[in-house]
Amino acid sequence: MPVESKVRLRKCVGCNEMKDQKDLIRLVRYSDGTLEIDPDHKKNGRGAYVCRNRLCIENAEKRKSFERSLKCRIDSKLYEDLLKECEG
Ligand SMILES: [Zn+2]
Repeated sequence: MPVESKVRLRKCVGCNEMKDQKDLIRLVRYSDGTLEIDPDHKKNGRGAYVCRNRLCIENAEKRKSFERSLKCRIDSKLYEDLLKECEG
């Protein structure tokens, strides 16, 4: 199935630029309010995206972009996890 051949653009909450989904880390919020990093971009829920780089993640934290986008509070631990994720 040629699903992967389509470039899907999503907006990074750190730099507000549209990027290819594969260059972004997805954060998902489930209907029960739980937050999780979604490495495969496959989980069901409201998603927000950030580039795989420290600068964008720090920007998102400073500007509370994820909070605004996902309409919930984000634990600082989650930002640490995002940083770990982007550093592989
Ligand atoms: Zn970015």
